[in-house]
Formats: sequence, C-alpha cells, structure tokens
Amino acid sequence: MATGGGWAPARSVERHGAPRGGGTRSKSVAPGLRRPSPSPARSRAATDNGGSADSCRVRVAVRLRPNNSEDLAHGSDFDSCVELQPESKRLKLKKNNWSCESYKFDEVFSENASQKRVYEVVAKPVVESVLEGYNGTVMAYGQTGTGKTYTVGRLGKDDPSERGIMVRALEHILSSMSFETDRVAISYLQLYLESVQDLLAPEKTNIPIVEDAKTGEVSLPGAAIVEIKDLEHVFHLLQIGEANRHAANTKMNTESSRSHAILIIHLQRSSRIKEEKSSLSNDMHDIFPDDLPLVLKSKLLIVDLAGSERIDKSGSEGHMIEEAKFINLSLTSLGKCINALAENSPHIPTRDSKLTRIFRDSFGGTARTSLVVTIGPSSRHYSETSSTIMFGQRAMKVVNTIKLKEEVDYKILYKKMEREVDQLTSEMERQQKLIKSEKMQLDKKLKESEGSFHDLRMTSNIRIENLEKEKCELESTVKTLMRDLEEERGQKNMLSEQIAELEKLLDENKQQQLENLSRTKVLTDTTKEHEKKMEELLRQLQEERHCSSSLKDRMSILQQELCDAQSSTQLQESMARELEKKLTEVTEEFTCQVQSLKEKISELISEKEVIYKELKSTQEKVQQEMWQRQGLEDQILRLKQSTSDNFAEESKTSDCMVRTGSGLGNATFVSKSGKIREALSGQRGTISKIFEEVGLPNVLALLKSEDLDVQIHAVKVVANLAAEDINQEKIVEEGGLDALLSLLETSENTTIYRVTAGAVANLAMNGSNQGVIMNKGGARLLANVASKTEDPQTLRMVAGAIANLCGNEKLHLMLKQDGGIKALLGMVRSGHADVIPQIARGIANFAKCESRVISQGHRKGRSLLIEDGVLTWMVANSTRFSASTRRHIELAFCHLAQNEDNTCDIIASGGIKELLRISRESPRDDARNLAKKALDSNPAFLREVQ
Ligand code: ADP
Ligand code: MG
Repeated sequence: MATGGGWAPARSVERHGAPRGGGTRSKSVAPGLRRPSPSPARSRAATDNGGSADSCRVRVAVRLRPNNSEDLAHGSDFDSCVELQPESKRLKLKKNNWSCESYKFDEVFSENASQKRVYEVVAKPVVESVLEGYNGTVMAYGQTGTGKTYTVGRLGKDDPSERGIMVRALEHILSSMSFETDRVAISYLQLYLESVQDLLAPEKTNIPIVEDAKTGEVSLPGAAIVEIKDLEHVFHLLQIGEANRHAANTKMNTESSRSHAILIIHLQRSSRIKEEKSSLSNDMHDIFPDDLPLVLKSKLLIVDLAGSERIDKSGSEGHMIEEAKFINLSLTSLGKCINALAENSPHIPTRDSKLTRIFRDSFGGTARTSLVVTIGPSSRHYSETSSTIMFGQRAMKVVNTIKLKEEVDYKILYKKMEREVDQLTSEMERQQKLIKSEKMQLDKKLKESEGSFHDLRMTSNIRIENLEKEKCELESTVKTLMRDLEEERGQKNMLSEQIAELEKLLDENKQQQLENLSRTKVLTDTTKEHEKKMEELLRQLQEERHCSSSLKDRMSILQQELCDAQSSTQLQESMARELEKKLTEVTEEFTCQVQSLKEKISELISEKEVIYKELKSTQEKVQQEMWQRQGLEDQILRLKQSTSDNFAEESKTSDCMVRTGSGLGNATFVSKSGKIREALSGQRGTISKIFEEVGLPNVLALLKSEDLDVQIHAVKVVANLAAEDINQEKIVEEGGLDALLSLLETSENTTIYRVTAGAVANLAMNGSNQGVIMNKGGARLLANVASKTEDPQTLRMVAGAIANLCGNEKLHLMLKQDGGIKALLGMVRSGHADVIPQIARGIANFAKCESRVISQGHRKGRSLLIEDGVLTWMVANSTRFSASTRRHIELAFCHLAQNEDNTCDIIASGGIKELLRISRESPRDDARNLAKKALDSNPAFLREVQ
C-alpha cells in the first residue's frame, strides 16, 4: 500500500508514465512518482510521456455554480466571496473586505462554463487514457447544492448540451471503440452509510469489496455488470440508477444526495503485440506468434461524492447525524488519503473507509485522475467553500504513476494455435504420403535398375569374352605375320649376302669380265631376276606391314571399345551400390520397426502368461466351487427324493390343510375318508422323520432355494408341519412365517401360492400366531393373492386362512383395514363349491365374535362387515348355497341382527324378510332362536314387521 507511487502496489511489469509514452509490456520507464516537486525520475517520465510533468498529477478544476434562488432570496446578505481569474487559472477567496487568498488550479470554470467545456477539460484526457488501457477516475467534490450531480450525472436526454460527464464519457467511448473486438460494460453503485448498494439491482446491498493480493486490482464481485450497446441503453441504465439512488434531503438542497454515486465503466479492447515483439527475448519469440492477441482492460470511475459540508450545517438530526458521520467517514478518509499522498507519507490509510478501498486502484497511483471541485458563490458558505478549495489544492499535489493493463487473450491465441496445429498435421500427413509414394517409385526403379544392370553385366561379359577371343586371334595373326616377316627378312639378308658375295665375285672376276662377259650378262640377268624377285618380296612385305598396321588399328579400336564398356559397367556398378545403400537404409528402418514389434510381442506374451496364471487359479477356484455345489445338489436330491415319496398323495390329501366348516374354533383337521387319513398320518410320520433328521431351520432355508421344485417341496413340508399344533409356534419362532409371507409377496407360481396360503391357514389356526400374521401384513398379502388368482384351490386356501383370522375379534379392525373382508367377499366370484363354504365360515366367525364383543359392551357401533357389503350379499344369497353354507350365512346374519346399531342397515337391505324367514324356516334351532330374539327385542324390527 505504502510502496510505489499510487494506492495500489506497483508491479515490475507495469508501465509507468503517461499512456502515450511508447512503453512496452515489461518495461519500466520510471519508478513510481510520489512527489509533485520535480525529480530526475519524474522528469524522465515526463520526457517519455512527451507531455508536461503535470500530466502525471491529479488534475483539479474548480467550477462555480451560478446564483440560485436561495442565494437570491438571501439577497440582503448576499455577497459573493469568490472571484475567478480564468486567464491565470486562479481563484480568489474573499474572507471579508480586507482579507483574501488566491489559489491556482488546473482550470477554473465560471458560472457560464458549458458542460461541453467542462467535459473536455476535466474528463476527456482521462477517457482517452482509459481508451488506451489505463485506469482512470473523474470525481466531483463539493458542498451539497454546488453542482456535483449537475456536472457529473446530468442526463440531458433531450438536450445534448446539458449532458454531464457520465453520459459524455460513455458517448465518447462508444464512438471510439470497435463493436467487433471491444466491449464496454457498466456497474452503477451507491455508497451509503458505509454499505455498497447496486443501483442497477437495488436488492443487492452490502456488496463486498475485493482486492487481488497480487495485482492490487479492486473488484466488487456482487455488483451487476451490464454490457452497453448504444447511447439509448446508457440513458436507460442511468435512469434506473438515478431512480434507485437514495437521496436524503437536506436543508440546503432538496435534490442533493447524501450518498456517493459511483459509475464504473469497464472497457476491454483487443490489441496486438506485433510492434512490441522486438523487445521480447529469443525464447519469447518462439513462444509468442507474430501477432499475439492481447486485451487491454481498463476501468473508469466517475464519482459523484456526497456533500462535503459539516454535519451542523446540513441540519441533520437523529439518525441523520449517524448518516452524516458515515458520509463524513468516507470523505474524511478520502481527504486523509489525499493528504498522505500529497505529503509522500509512508502510510496511506485507504482501509479506513469503503470509498477509499474502492479507489485503491483508480485514484492517483496507477490511474489517471481528474477532480472537479464545485463551489457556490455565496459568502454565507464561506467556510465550506474554503475547505472545498483546500481539498482541491491538496489533491493537486497527488501524483499518478499510471500503468497499462494488458492481458494475452489466450482464447484467441489457443484457437489460432489449434488452427496452426491442424495445418501442420495435414501438411505432415501430405509429406508422409509423398515420401511413401517416392519410396515406392524408388523401390520400383531400383528393381528395374537391378534387372537392367544384370542384363548389362551379362551382355558386357559376353562382349568382353568375344573381344578377348578376337584379340587373341589377332595377336596370333600378328605373330604369324611377324614370323613370316622375320623369315622374309632372313631370306632378304641371305639374298643380300649372296649379292655381296656375287659382287665380290664380280670384283674378283673383273679381269675375267671380258672373258666372262657372257657369264656376266647371264649373271646380270640373274641379278635382275633376283632384284625383281626381291622387289616383289619387298612389295609383299610392304603389304604385309600395311595389313599388320590396319590390324593394329582395329585392335586399338577394339581395346577402346573394351575400355568404354568397362567404364559404363563401373558407372552402373556405382549406381547399383548407391541403390543398395538406400535399400540397406530402408531395410534397417524396417528392422527397427520389426524389433519394436518383437518387443511389444514379448511384452504381450508376458502379460498373457500372467493372465494365464490368473485364469488357472480362477479355474481351480471354480472347480472347488463346483465340487461344493455338487455336494449341495446331492443333499438337495436326497431331500427331494424323500419329500417326493411323501407327497405322492399330496393332491389327494391337500383337503386336510384347511379346516372344514364343521366347527368354528375347533382346531382339528377332519379328513374326508379313513383311507386318506391313513395315508396322511403315514405321510406325516415320514415328514416328522425328515423334520427330525434335517431340522426345521434347514427346511425353512430351503424355502429360499432358487430351484422352484425344491422350493415347492419345502413349502409342502412346512405346510404339513404347520398342520400339527405342536409345530405351529415353533415354525413362527424360527422365521417360517416370514419366509412364507415373503413367498406370497414375491412368488409368481400358483402352486407356491396355493401351498403357502394353506400353510398360513394352518398357522392361523393358532390363536397366538394370528396376531403375528396380521402384524406382519399377512391379511394384505392374502388379499393380494386372492385378487391375482382364479385357481379355486388357491382361493379355498386363502379364504380358509382369512376365515381363521376372522375368529379373533381383536384383529377385526386391522383385518378390515388391510382389505381382508373385501378380499373374502371378492372370492365369491369364483362360485366354486370348495371356496364358498370357507367364505361363509369366515363371515360367520367374524359376525359371531363381533356380536359377542358388542354384547359384552367392549365395542359399539355398526358392524365392520356392513361397510364392505357383506350384509347386502348375505341378504341376497342366503338361500342359494348348500345347507352347511346356508347355515353359516343365516347364523352370521342373525348375529348382526343382535346389534341395534345395525338396525337401519338391516331394514334398508330388506333384511326383515330374511329375519322372518329364518325365524320360521331355518332347520337350526339356534338360528331360529336368534332371529326370533332379534325380532322381539328390537322395536324398529317390530314396527317393520307390522
Ligand atoms: P449537488 O449535487 O452538488 O448537491 P446539484 O448538482 O444537485 O448539486 O445542483 C444543485 C442545483 O444547482 C441544481 O438544481 C442544478 O441544476 C443547479 N446547478 C448546479 N450547477 C449548475 C450550473 N453550473 N449551471 C446551472 N445550474 C446549476
Ligand atoms: Mg448531488
């Protein structure tokens, strides 16, 4: 915080100096400037900027508001305490007629200054700097009512000349940027009572201020950032913001606000690194492509500060004092920071208020800043005006060390790189194809060359052989000729010797010449002849010599040809050698590939071995499991064998599993014939034996077997065991009931349903089991089975089971609620002679028990049977069925008639007639008596009868 020239810490990569200075991304032009007085560092920055040293400072302008109605109303004591000297950019503040101070500003605006000029002088340089990628701040400071909002926030929608700095700045930015590559967005916030509120989304309050520890960048992550499209959009958003702005009225001006309004303009512009690349190191050259896409991110804060007046003058009271304290907290803190900056203090207290925290990266320091202080002319506000001016004076001493914020647009860079990689890949593929086809051509050529080379070698060899033969022949001819020549020479020599001798003789015989004239003549003739002969021989020799030389010529030509043929052979040999070399290279490459493939194969083989080992161990495990399974299957087979022996007659004896209707509450089974009884008792005996040998838990475990056959046999064993009183409780205790109910719930098999329902029916004979069956949802499961099947024997078992449960009055309500009664009556649809009696028995059981409870006064109200339609059914069907069934129905009906609460229903269902009929015609005494009793004791019935 205290380091560097600004509120934000300076980074080594920052660019210091004015935005126009041609700095580079990583070049530090000048160290952070802290003092307004000239220093070497500062002048360097100024030179770099190409501007004045003042361009690094916070620029401060003062604007004087025209007289307002209030000023005029106080006309009596009105006396302007301000005098402007625009030419010298000075302001004179008159305390009284004899004391006045003069202050110099960067600009002084008179009451006639136009909004346009104020913008151009105060804000335009900052906006331009923001457009170049630097952060900037423009703010208005002054007493309430002096024109801060007028200067900064005036919309001027209809009158462009009225527009304030906010609208003009956005107008300027929109016209300077490119919509294709750049983006501008705004956040509009209000700081009120040290709470940051979003003026574009007023529900967002207490927005936190976050500061990046590394870059020092300040952000408000909770605030809305709205991208701007055009000026209309700007008006719309600023109007929303204005409407939301909390304005606390003060005595001084009813339009003034007690809050600080902060418009943050976020600008992002694209840029290229090209011109800066020369400054990068060689490595960086390789990393960054020629035109690295960059984005310049900058931020412009336009701030309309709350009034700077003291609390007492604003006339605040109560909570307003609290408010004013907070407003002053931010302003006081701003003043302290400006003082500390101006005095080059080592500590800048930015953390003291939210305002100064928001300004951390945007005021002084690394940003370009302009401040417009607004004052009124009235001497009534002399002290406020004076403090405002002093604030401006101090701010003028704050120095900026602005920095450029550039970021590489890695998205674009990535896309570009991706495109390049694509191109390179396709080029590489093309090259590979080319190399492949070239190689193929070369191979072909090599083969062709090898062929032709071979042919050439053959023909050359033949030619060489021929030539050599010819050479030999010629040599032998030359030899013969030479020998002949030698001989001729010898002859010639001999002749010459003879001539010499003859001449000698001639000389010797000169004297005899005369004598021997004739001999001489003869001799001359002979000589002439000899000479002729010699000439002839010489001529022949000449010819022979000629012939020999032509032969020699021919031989040399032939030798030349031989030489040529040899050299062409050498050439072809060297070509062949080259081709062979290439071939060796290609072969080597292939060998390498083959080698790597071999390595892979050996890896795979080792992997295969590992897998093979695993497979082997798994196979062993499987084998063991198979043996175990075999053992278990054998056991099951043995069990099946013994159970099937016992169930050979199961179908005949299954009747025994349900209690017949002869005695309600009688817990014994009655068999249809003695024979079956014998078979049954024999079978039971066997079952008991199995049971003793195998043990109940094992039999029950088989109920869960996956083999349906085993399961069916197991249920049959359990059903038979359940028929014995002594086993019933034990089966339930060992979890047999749970297993049976779970079968009813999950099985889809009719036999399972039938036998299981039979088993449950048997268990339900036992009074203590009945409650357990009900509590475990037995009635619901039985009802469910009843609805699912049409098999009369299954329905008989289910009806029998429910009928048994009906005999327990404590369970009546639950039985009804679980749908037991409905299911019982529903099974009437079967019409089967085996099912109906069970239903009738169940209803009779129910009615009898219910009647007993009611007569004992344990329960009141109409019968639970009525609601489920049992009464109506009884009245309609009492005479339809067999005698025993009829007896059950009649008894049930008579029991219902004993309960006075059933009277209305009995009358309504036409039951009086039935009651009369029973009282007269029923073959059973008990039924007749009950009917009579009901008729006599119930006055309503009596009335109906009469
Ligand atoms: P502040 O925001 O400082 O409290 P305002 O901007 O609300 O003050 O100004 C108070 C009143 O003075 C407004 O009615 C405004 O129109 C008027 N006013 C302020 N400055 C000027 C100016 N330079 N020219 C004309 N009217 C002004
Ligand atoms: Mg205002």
